[in-house]
Amino acid sequence: MSLQGKTALVTGSTSGIGLGIAMTLAKAGANLLLNGFGDASAVIEQVKQYGGKVGHHPADVSDVAQIADMIAYAEREFGGVDILVNNAGIQHVDAVEDFPVESWDKIIAINLSSVFHSTRLCLPGMRAKGWGRIVNIASVHGLVGSTGKAAYVAAKHGVIGLTKVVGLETVASNVTCNAICPGWVLTPLVQKQIDDRAAQTGDVEQAKHDLLAEKQPSLEFVTPSQLGELTLFLCSEAGAQVRGAAWNIDGGWLAR
Ligand code: NAD
Repeated sequence: MSLQGKTALVTGSTSGIGLGIAMTLAKAGANLLLNGFGDASAVIEQVKQYGGKVGHHPADVSDVAQIADMIAYAEREFGGVDILVNNAGIQHVDAVEDFPVESWDKIIAINLSSVFHSTRLCLPGMRAKGWGRIVNIASVHGLVGSTGKAAYVAAKHGVIGLTKVVGLETVASNVTCNAICPGWVLTPLVQKQIDDRAAQTGDVEQAKHDLLAEKQPSLEFVTPSQLGELTLFLCSEAGAQVRGAAWNIDGGWLAR
């Protein structure tokens, strides 16, 4: 399918899953507004190879004013956002009674509230154009819990609830809103958890295997490009009646 003429905003696309999704959408012809921390110049060059227009906005999505500024920039420079992928996210692992309050607040702001803000700010433009796609990168942790991840699990469950509401509120239009729920994907966010495990044993490969074996029976990581392809499907005409769904792609995590 071609996304020629469409603009996608992918939050948190300077790394990991967001970058994989941005590459897939760019390959399908979309213009890309990237977002995320770090030096974006190499990432911009990578995404530019597919020939569409590419930009980067450095908004910290924990800040409502910066999100608003990013969407105003998209309207000015790209003529609006047709595809919104809410992907930016962080993790912190601690038992609930030890969980730092600042980490709770930060995770709720980045992983949940930012999805609300970017959605409410992009929807009017999508409705005006008569077409739009909102894809929220939730997690299997939006559907089941795990110890140590109170804020993350709460935020991701919240994202799936929000996805259902927006899916219903747009149900009579050509705008859809869905969530994708990945299992383990080998990105910097997960590498940190592997390194924390390996710090106790000194064996990174074993830590990787143990992490997978606990939850993901395929014993293989989901890849950013597989998540890009699923996002592309949700953007296609074939995906037009997938509405308010939480679609897991998790190597069998939730099947048992
Ligand atoms: P990552 O750490 O590789 O990338 C996170 C991206 O978000 C980076 O570009 C970073 O700069 C950006 N970011 C972080 N805080 C930000 C902020 N305040 N404002 C703007 N950008 C910010 O992580 P990832 O593994 O690619 O995770 C991406 C999303 O996928 C997250 O929402 C995560 O919860 C979700 N997810 C990841 C996995 C996994 O196994 N890696 C599984 C399920 C869901």
